Amino acid sequence: MNWIDLRSDTVTQPTPAMREAMARAEVGDDVYGEDPTVNALQRRLAVKLGFEDALLLPSGTQANLCALMSHCQRGDEYLVGMQAHTYQYEGGGAAVLGSIQPQPIVHAEDGTLPLEAIEGAIKPLDPHFARTRLLCLENTWHGRALPVEYLRDAHILCKRHGLAMHLDGARLFNAAVALDLPARDITQYFDSVSVCFSKGLGAPVGSVLCGSKALIEQARRWRKVCGGGMRQAGILAAACLHALDHHIERLAQDHARAARLAEGLRGVATIEHVSQHTNMVFIEVAPAHLGAFKAHMDAAAVKLSIGYVPNIRMVVHLDIDDAGIDRAIAALRAFAP
Ligand SMILES: *Cc1c(COP(=O)(O)O)cnc(C)c1O
Repeated sequence: MNWIDLRSDTVTQPTPAMREAMARAEVGDDVYGEDPTVNALQRRLAVKLGFEDALLLPSGTQANLCALMSHCQRGDEYLVGMQAHTYQYEGGGAAVLGSIQPQPIVHAEDGTLPLEAIEGAIKPLDPHFARTRLLCLENTWHGRALPVEYLRDAHILCKRHGLAMHLDGARLFNAAVALDLPARDITQYFDSVSVCFSKGLGAPVGSVLCGSKALIEQARRWRKVCGGGMRQAGILAAACLHALDHHIERLAQDHARAARLAEGLRGVATIEHVSQHTNMVFIEVAPAHLGAFKAHMDAAAVKLSIGYVPNIRMVVHLDIDDAGIDRAIAALRAFAP
């Protein structure tokens, strides 16, 4: 039986058309700045999101790290969500490699970091304290699209305190599609933005960091320090360009399918706390039944992620069609501990 893989939107296979675009890509040595396809991708995303320049990196983790190290010096501090990727899931890279201290802030239910908490965490200029330099937000956060009014208010607060803003926009386009806004309406409030092409956009590899010319020049240096650039990376950039052309509007289908998946689970006795945001569905199964639940889902050939809050996450993506959603709903409803 074919597996229905709902663990993450990173599991997508490049489509035949994407592979075709990759095979046709014109390439050069990108460390010399000579790969025309990489240059086209960087230019195109920078313009689309309203920035001067952009840089292709192998992963979102490296893009965020290079951004943090470009904004902050040794002994500086960034304010970040307690459950943000850039705090929790990046190996502590900013502290390990950048000597940058994170100041975590507890998320509100909607994924925002309360403005009073941000303001309260900004340190006075005093040798006792790290220098607070940057606010780092994530959008979408656990599937939630942050309200644009919130981003505007956070921007006003940060400017008042001389802080820069970085957006971990791994799923920026999910937020833009959900809010039915141009992505630029979200990114306008930030000094830098990272975008993942290997999530819902369906490319095999690649993240792009956007920012000012000066910031991207710094980030290019840090990319070298963090392991270096890639050479004929146009093969990867071609996949990202293909995704920009063909895989953004279709994210709405993922969101609709996620809503249908959530709808199909309401009222099922063994499944609690069903919630859905953009392409993600969260459910809770009683911890005592989790082992049996996992075995049941494996037998039905449905993969999902355990270990979130609520404890199970399912992510809808390019390789999940309506029949896959039906099969997942049937398997979940059939669970009888
Ligand atoms: C996936 C992800 C990243 C980057 O992850 P990589 O696997 O390194 O590309 C960053 N932030 C968020 C919110 C993510 O989901």
